[in-house]
Order: sequence, then structure tokens, then C-alpha cells
Amino acid sequence: MAEYPFLEDASEFIRSEGPTLEELLLHPAREEVRRDGMSRVRRALEEGRIPDTSTEGDYLRELLSYPIARMIVSGVGDAYLIRRYSLAEAEKARRNMTSKDNDFISLVAKDLGMDFRMDGLVLLHFSDYLRYSVQMKSKDWKLVNQRLADGYVRLGRDRFIRVLKEAIQKRMESELPLAVNDQILNALGDKIEEIANLTEEKKEQHKVEDMGRIRITRVPPCMRDLIRAIQLGKHIPHTGRFALTAFLHNIGLSSDDIFRLYSLSPDFQEGKTKYQIGHISGEISGTEYTPPECSTMQSYGLCPGPDGLCKRIKHPLNYYRIKGRKRG
Ligand code: SF4
Repeated sequence: MAEYPFLEDASEFIRSEGPTLEELLLHPAREEVRRDGMSRVRRALEEGRIPDTSTEGDYLRELLSYPIARMIVSGVGDAYLIRRYSLAEAEKARRNMTSKDNDFISLVAKDLGMDFRMDGLVLLHFSDYLRYSVQMKSKDWKLVNQRLADGYVRLGRDRFIRVLKEAIQKRMESELPLAVNDQILNALGDKIEEIANLTEEKKEQHKVEDMGRIRITRVPPCMRDLIRAIQLGKHIPHTGRFALTAFLHNIGLSSDDIFRLYSLSPDFQEGKTKYQIGHISGEISGTEYTPPECSTMQSYGLCPGPDGLCKRIKHPLNYYRIKGRKRG
């Protein structure tokens, strides 16, 4: 339960056997728990990673630090923080599952409501597969490339664990923020304030307005929406990443600055991001790509609806050029 505090059994245990809310929030004997809860959130925010264990075998302390962490995240109530924290918790669970036996993995999958059978391989109902594999962008995750039998997708154990990680992250994100009452806000006020400030600092470090000569007022609505989505920690589709990277490269942003923007994303992967930027900017591929035309952006669902200037142009780069000329 300490390793999988998001499972129903763990919540039930805390409800029936754990301390009262008042004890958890205020009792001096629970100070370590509150400190651990804070550390969970801080590490997720600063490093994108929560260590496997921090309590040297004190499982109750470890388990109780989870509700404290959730109260702190809820007290801040920031979408970026929620996504980054949920991702780090889900990744911690994924690492841990790789060393567990199949019976244990089945237990986790059942708790998450998966329709599956586990023998040597796993058979997962295609609807669950689709729901949780949507974030996986490589072709070999696409449903058309899977082996299907009676509506069930065959998966290896590692892939199943990867799907479970997505399900854990989604569950956590859907549960947060919790409603936090005055008692929680008063008891954890200092910690909530510290994390709120850290969250703002983290977001501020990557704001696109800070990017050298590039003026956000010249950027067309489609690209502004994509930038905002990254700043809020939302997932953006591959087509959106391609369009935005090519756009930013073409208006003169350095690869380092583009990289800095993407590093704000909760599912940021350093190596993959560097490769994609290097490919689109021509540093790796030898070809400098341009963003798609407006008609293609519309067909991708990436055009939020044209403003006055948009109606006169056919390409997002022209929007930026014309706005630049107007400024004189
Ligand atoms: S019309 Fe073109 S430039 Fe304007 S928001 Fe849509 S895609 Fe972007």
C-alpha cells in the first residue's frame, strides 16, 4: 500500500486504520509525515521524479505522506502542478511494478478497472487499450498495428505496465484538486505557499515572452494556443509539436530556446525533444521544415478560428511577418 497509495485498498486502510485528519495535520508526532508529503511534491516539481522510498522501511509514514502531498497540490490548485505531480507519482509506480510478479500487476490492473486477462501475455480489451495508449505516439502503439483476438489486444508485460502507468496518471489527475477546507489550508498554509511560489518560478523560467527578440503579440492565434497549452502543462499532439517547432525555428528562435519551452511540459523527455528539434530545424536532418499552411492546420484541428488578419493570409508565418511590418 505504501508503494501504491492510489489504490482503493490503501484509501480504505487509511480511512479505517489511519490517524484522524486533525492528527495528521497537527500532531507533532506526524511532523515527519508532513515533511515527506512536502518532499514528494517538491521533488516532482523540481526534478520530475519522486524517489522510490524515503522512509527507510517505515511504511505507514510513507503511505500517509501521500494524502499530505495531495492536500498540498490541491491547496495550490494549479493545472501544471497537478499534471507534473501525477506524472511523477505514476512513473514511480511504473518503476516499482517492473519488479513485481504477475499476480500483483493483476491486482493493480483490477483496481484501475481494466478489462484484461493475464497469462504469459496480456489480453487487454481494445477500449481500455485505446483510452490509455493515446499518449504513445510511435507507430507500433497504433491499434492497427496490434494483434487482436475477439476484441482483445495482445501485449507483453512491459507494455501492459506502461498502459497501467497512463491509467494511474489519468486517475490521479481526475481526482485533483480535492476540496480543501480551512483546517487543511491553515495547517499546511506555509507548505502550500512555498509550492505555489515554486510552481510560478518554474513556469516563469520558461515563459515564451522571455525569449529574446520574439514578440508574443506577433504570434498567430494557433501558435499562441499551442504555447499556452505547453505552459499550462497540457499534452499537445505530435502535429501541434511539429507545427510549433517549425514556426519558432522559422521566426528565429534558437534550438536552445525552443528546448527551454518544451522543458515545461510535464511529459518532457530530454533526448527525444532534442532529437525532434534537431530534425525539424535541419541540424540533424539537413532539411529545415516550415510549419503547415493554414488549411492543413485547420484539418489538424489546430486553428482556433481566424482573427481579422488570419482571414487575409494562408500561412501562419505570414501573420508574424505582416504584424512585424505594421510595427514598423
Ligand atoms: S488562420 Fe492560419 S494563422 Fe490564423 S490561427 Fe488559423 S492556422 Fe493560425
